[in-house]
Amino acid sequence: MPNSQTSHIRINPNRLRADFDALSQFGATASGGVNRPAFSPAHLEMRRWFHEKARQAGLEILSDGAGNHSARLRCGPDGAKYLLMGSHLDSVPDGGRYDGALGVLAALEVLRTVQEQRLKLPYHLEAIDFTDEEGTLVSFLGSFAFCGLLTAADLEKPRGDPQALAEGLQRAGLTHESILAARRDPAQLAGYLELHVEQGSRMEKAGVQIGAVTHIAGIRFFRLTYTGSPGHGGTIPLEERRDAAWGASAFTLAVREIVMGGFPECFANVGRVEYRPGFFNTIPQQAELALEFRSPDPDQFDRLEQALFENAREQAQRFKLELNIEFIGKRDPARMDARIVSAVRESAAALGLSCTSIISRAGHDAQALATICPTGMIFIPSQGGLSHSPLEYTRWEDCVNGANVLLQTVLRCANLDLSS
Ligand SMILES: [Zn+2]
Repeated sequence: MPNSQTSHIRINPNRLRADFDALSQFGATASGGVNRPAFSPAHLEMRRWFHEKARQAGLEILSDGAGNHSARLRCGPDGAKYLLMGSHLDSVPDGGRYDGALGVLAALEVLRTVQEQRLKLPYHLEAIDFTDEEGTLVSFLGSFAFCGLLTAADLEKPRGDPQALAEGLQRAGLTHESILAARRDPAQLAGYLELHVEQGSRMEKAGVQIGAVTHIAGIRFFRLTYTGSPGHGGTIPLEERRDAAWGASAFTLAVREIVMGGFPECFANVGRVEYRPGFFNTIPQQAELALEFRSPDPDQFDRLEQALFENAREQAQRFKLELNIEFIGKRDPARMDARIVSAVRESAAALGLSCTSIISRAGHDAQALATICPTGMIFIPSQGGLSHSPLEYTRWEDCVNGANVLLQTVLRCANLDLSS
C-alpha cells in the first residue's frame, strides 16, 4: 500500500480520551491512581468492559486459556497472519493510570481507525491485553503462556501468594492446564507492537516526543550470603572479627563503582540486606543480600556478572568470610526488530515528531513476544519518570502522538515482509 494514500490518517483522539477516562475509573483510588492487580474484581470488570467496547465497534472478541483478552479486525486476505498490538490492563497495587492501559486502548483505537477507513492490509489486526504483566501473581503470566515460555513450575511456585493465585484463577475461570495450553502458533503472527509510557525521565529531560525502543534490558537475580562468626559486639577486637556486615557493605558500595565505572548501559541494585542474628550488641554472623542487575546486551551481561562476583569474592577474602552465591532467576535481554524500529522512526518523522532510539530498562510483554515474532515498542515521555505510582502522568498530547505513531507504524509495516 503506498504510504501517500494513508499517511494522513489519524486516530480519533476524543474517542481514545473517552475510553481512557472510562477505564481509569476501574479500581480508581483516592490518590488518583488505580488498584487493579491481576484477577482482582476491578481487573476482571475492566476486561469485560474492553470486550464490550470491541463488540460495540463490530470487532471480533477472543480470550485464551491464560485469560489474555483480544479484539480482532479481519482486514487482510483470507488466511493472513495477525499483526498484534497491545499491552496489559492490570496494574501494580496502587499504580498509575497509564502503565499498560494506554497501550491496550491505543491498539483498540488503531483497529477502529483502520476499520472506519476500510483499509486492506497484508495482515489482520489484533489488540491484546496480556494477563498479569505486573507479576502480582506470576510474572508475565499471559505473554509467557502465549509464547510457550511458561512452565508448570512457574504456576506451582508463583512469585505472588499461591492462595491468591488459586482464588484469582477460579474467579477468572482458568486452570493451570488451560494456561499451559494457551500457546499461540507463531506461524499465525506477523509481529507485535506495543505502545507504553517510558517509566523513566530520559525522554522528558531530552525534550523528545517519541522513543523507538531498540532493546529491552534483561535482568538477573541472585541471593548472596556472607557468613562469618558471631560474638560480643563490645568485646571482640575489630581485627579479630569475621563480621558479615563488613563484607556485605563493602560489596554493596562496590556494585555502584563497578556499574558506574565500566557498564554505562547497565543497572544494578542491592534491594535488601538482612543481618543475622541482628542485634545491637552481636556481630552479624550472616548477611544475606538480594542482588539484581540489568543489561541490554548478553555479552555485557556476562562481563558484568563476572565483575560483580569477582568483587563479592574479594570482599569475602578481605573480611575472612564464606560466600554463597545462589541463582534465583533471569530474563534475557530482547532485541527489537530493526525493520520495525526504522518504521517507528519514519512514522514519527512523517508526523513531525522528534524521535530517539532508546533502551527499555523495565520489563514488558514485548520481551516475551520478541522470542517468537518480529517485535517493536514505542515509548512516550513519563513526567518526572514516575511510574508504579498514583502520580504517574503523561501529557495527553503525548498519548495521542504515541497512538498515531502506533497507527502509522502498523500501516508502514505493510511494506515490510515481516515473515522473512
Ligand atoms: Zn507496563
